[in-house]
Amino acid sequence: MDPEYILLTPGPLSTSDTVRSAMNRDLSTWDADYNHIVQTIRQRLVTMLGGGNDTTSVLMQGSGTFGVEATIGTVVPPAGRLVVINNGAYGARILEIARRLEIPSIEARFGETEPASAEHLDRLLTENPDTTHVAAVHCETTSGILNPVESLGYVVAKHKMSFIVDAMSSLGGMPMTLDSLSADFVISSANKCIQGVPGFSFVVARRQALESCSGNSRSLSLDLYDQWTEMEAHHGKWRFTSPTHTVLAFAQALEELETEGGVTARAERYTTNQQRLVAGMVEIGFRPLLATSLQSPIITSFHDPVANFDFARFYGLLKQHGFVIYPGKVTHADTFRIGNIGDVHPPDIERLLNAIAEVAELMSLFPTSTSPGDRTPG
Ligand SMILES: *Cc1c(COP(=O)(O)O)cnc(C)c1O
Repeated sequence: MDPEYILLTPGPLSTSDTVRSAMNRDLSTWDADYNHIVQTIRQRLVTMLGGGNDTTSVLMQGSGTFGVEATIGTVVPPAGRLVVINNGAYGARILEIARRLEIPSIEARFGETEPASAEHLDRLLTENPDTTHVAAVHCETTSGILNPVESLGYVVAKHKMSFIVDAMSSLGGMPMTLDSLSADFVISSANKCIQGVPGFSFVVARRQALESCSGNSRSLSLDLYDQWTEMEAHHGKWRFTSPTHTVLAFAQALEELETEGGVTARAERYTTNQQRLVAGMVEIGFRPLLATSLQSPIITSFHDPVANFDFARFYGLLKQHGFVIYPGKVTHADTFRIGNIGDVHPPDIERLLNAIAEVAELMSLFPTSTSPGDRTPG
């Protein structure tokens, strides 16, 4: 068995001991006490997104993608038309979901290191007035870029269309409300910034928008509307076997988020970690992919330090030091990624930077003052 390590990845991520111990209990999925926990979670999510009685939430078995697919497949009606903003792998995944479900869709394509443009979206929607829904990713985890979801949502609302936000990697780690995003549906999952363990996704929705979705779903198990009506009618009951242990961990994670000081405090911690990480990495010699103004506090892409960078070796050496990082995902540059989300604190970042400096020296990634010219140019 590998030694224990800290996950610096975009989920699953490092959770607290108390979140993991909350799972140490077997509960019946039919039990009223358990269903009450589900209801508490649903209400907390609504409150987190600034919603009142006009807002509701649904939990859905599976990873984040299951929640995205459930939402797209349930909320876009048979005669609907979807516009998908795409500047990374998760935007592309929404397009692929629409294609598989045979939902007519238009791609609003941007470069992977370029934020989506509200002006461009405005023009596209004017040219395509039969559009009913627009979907966008908040933090494109592919690069770590932040999309201007508030301005995008403003444009979507102006055209009287419905806005779906994949806030998978940002919800709980960056302040947002349904109102600030002008969104009808916001999607995330248990194992990202709320710092729970994997097992379900969730959708916070305007009640009125979800109420009109009966019978739309192209899938039985991913019918968000049916899942919602079951949870409403039976006070927190899921339709099929629910991930009871994950739910217990998530309830504990929500408690701990509140204890930390809520989303604002968590956002500050992630931002502090991210800024310290970049400053330290630049000192060592690495270069971040994105301009600071585009960078999220969630995950950071770094250029490979040298041509033919041996990422596998770098990864393995860091793992020996107790840190697991992530490979790159953007298509046009050679990069790797380091996540900031999870139960990770400033001292962990300092230890990480020390480890990276040590590994960089071992791998002779940068010229040093004692041995200049170590590195082959180019
Ligand atoms: C993590 C993530 C998802 C969902 O991925 P899963 O592997 O299905 O959990 C979707 N969108 C974004 C932006 C993500 O970061």
